[in-house]
Amino acid sequence: MTYEHERRVAELAVQRATLLTKKVFHEKAKGELAKDDKSPVTKGDFGAQALIIQAIVSNFPNDQIVAEEESTELRQDAALRREIWNLVKDIKLEDEASDKLIGGPLPNEEAMLDIIDRGKSPGGPTGRVWALDPIDGTKGFLRGGQYAVCLALIEDGDVKVGVIGCPNLPVDDSVPLTADIGSQQTDDKGKGVLFSSVKGEGSVSRPLTPGELAPSKPIAMRPVTNISEAVFCEGVEAAHSNQSDNAAVAQRLGITSPSVRLDSQAKYCSIARGAGDIYLRLPVRRDYQEKIWDHAAGDLIVREAGGQVTDIYGKRLDFSKGRTLAENSGVVAAPAELQDQVIDAVQTVLKLK
Ligand code: AMP
Ligand code: MG
Repeated sequence: MTYEHERRVAELAVQRATLLTKKVFHEKAKGELAKDDKSPVTKGDFGAQALIIQAIVSNFPNDQIVAEEESTELRQDAALRREIWNLVKDIKLEDEASDKLIGGPLPNEEAMLDIIDRGKSPGGPTGRVWALDPIDGTKGFLRGGQYAVCLALIEDGDVKVGVIGCPNLPVDDSVPLTADIGSQQTDDKGKGVLFSSVKGEGSVSRPLTPGELAPSKPIAMRPVTNISEAVFCEGVEAAHSNQSDNAAVAQRLGITSPSVRLDSQAKYCSIARGAGDIYLRLPVRRDYQEKIWDHAAGDLIVREAGGQVTDIYGKRLDFSKGRTLAENSGVVAAPAELQDQVIDAVQTVLKLK
């Protein structure tokens, strides 16, 4: 087995970080700030980033890290910094050996800020680069909906390990996606899944736990005999993908049921486990560059479960271009045998051919 240590560290790091994000999820005051691009960030994003980078740095000190957040705002806001530190310093996996493997505890607030800033690598085509989104779908997190903690190892531009924690998805892989999956989550019962994949070894899911890793089960995309019966999903935020173009593509494929909307890479995970079939993210603006941390783990988890992931041109996502997918536009993920048909519909709707 390859990447065994990397996978275990990533799984445990994501599992530990979800203990922090779940705590914040249930708090009224989430420490919300607006970043320069107007997108929100919370105590949960900063705290989870610190915990996960701590795990990477303790095990793989020479690896590069491309992470979404950085500490500038926190260095200017002592009260928020203290609140985050109060969360981070107390989060531990209940299983001592598992917690020890992923390093910690951090000694103080200053060390926490410094470790958050280890995620500023420019990425690129060579070497080992971890892509981290400590809370993907922060808007969903704030709405009480779906969100995900996402970590991937990219080596020489190729995704080798992908791990995604989805605290609000049902544990049971066989529960199909329904419209309420993206709406406000009122309790944690039966929820919380950790997905992971190593290139060439398939994808698995297991329940999230507060301690050691639970046993895993293989997951796979479900066979679709009639594409018109496929379930397609898309983001909740209309600013992140073009919902009317997505709908027009579905219509061309003969799909009559409406999309299921949910935030974050929980969409990749849901189709990889056969709870849905197609994920459409057609661009709102052709010049938007998707971020590698929003896609690296999901891309591998879907492809290793029997799916294909490309952009609107049918080109594989290229993680070798730095912090963004500079050479891609949009995302289309579907069972591998249907991908050409879906891309054909996308290109017709977008008048690309
Ligand atoms: P989702 O939950 O699928 O809507 O995706 C959330 C991610 O969308 C965030 O992490 C942002 O990085 C990303 N995002 C922000 N603006 C855009 C945009 N204009 N187009 C596509 N994705 C975006
Ligand atoms: Mg994010």
